[in-house]
Amino acid sequence: MSLNNNSKKPYIVSNWKMNGTKALLHEAMPVWQPFASKAHWIFCPPATLIMETKECFSKVIIGGQDCSSNLSGAFTGSISAAQLAEAGASYVILGHSECRQYRGDTNAIVAEKAIAALSQGLTPIICIGESLETHAANETLTFLKQQLVESIANISGKFFVAYEPIWAIGTGKTATLHDIEHVHHFLREQQPGVPLLYGGSVNAQNAGAITELENVDGLLVGGVSLKIEEFKELLRSVHGISALN
Ligand code: PEP
Repeated sequence: MSLNNNSKKPYIVSNWKMNGTKALLHEAMPVWQPFASKAHWIFCPPATLIMETKECFSKVIIGGQDCSSNLSGAFTGSISAAQLAEAGASYVILGHSECRQYRGDTNAIVAEKAIAALSQGLTPIICIGESLETHAANETLTFLKQQLVESIANISGKFFVAYEPIWAIGTGKTATLHDIEHVHHFLREQQPGVPLLYGGSVNAQNAGAITELENVDGLLVGGVSLKIEEFKELLRSVHGISALN
């Protein structure tokens, strides 16, 4: 079953990572908002900008970039799901490859974080993706199946899955349309009814074709989501809203 066809709005998740200030927020939002309203746009700024976004651009749907598996306590530097929700988030990215790589998030930790997120009313966007070695060894589907099963263990509630091949994130190398559809078709069989996003060097040139794939329900965009004009072009290309200029 595909959740995405021409009559449905794609999900666009923009991940600012550890970038962005109030100045960029206020410069970008007036440009993006008219186009983004045609999509299910989920804006994931650094946590410091969530409240400012909520207060100044109340219609924008906001996501956090990570949360703790603990609900509160002595965890210096961490942020809880309840704090994200109170600040104005309704989604949270979990298991991003950078959190897996630099912060040691295992599949089990991602699943615990998802349980914490759901308990506070946040919808987790669970990221999965294989390394270049796994890709080259033709073991992508086997790897992803296990990574996904373990990353959603014991969770109940609505969640999204973002397929982000590690070798495509921030590298300018996008997976081929054939490979993306192949993986998403497989994920759809594993998790029918779960929105499936693709991420990895998405830009204004490739976004339209990727979102037209049968089993792609949307995109997770990193680098380009920080570029005001290119992200506007990306939104326009996805929705074909050329009438809006
Ligand atoms: C990401 O941060 O999840 C991502 C996909 O980044 P980029 O679009 O820059 O590859």
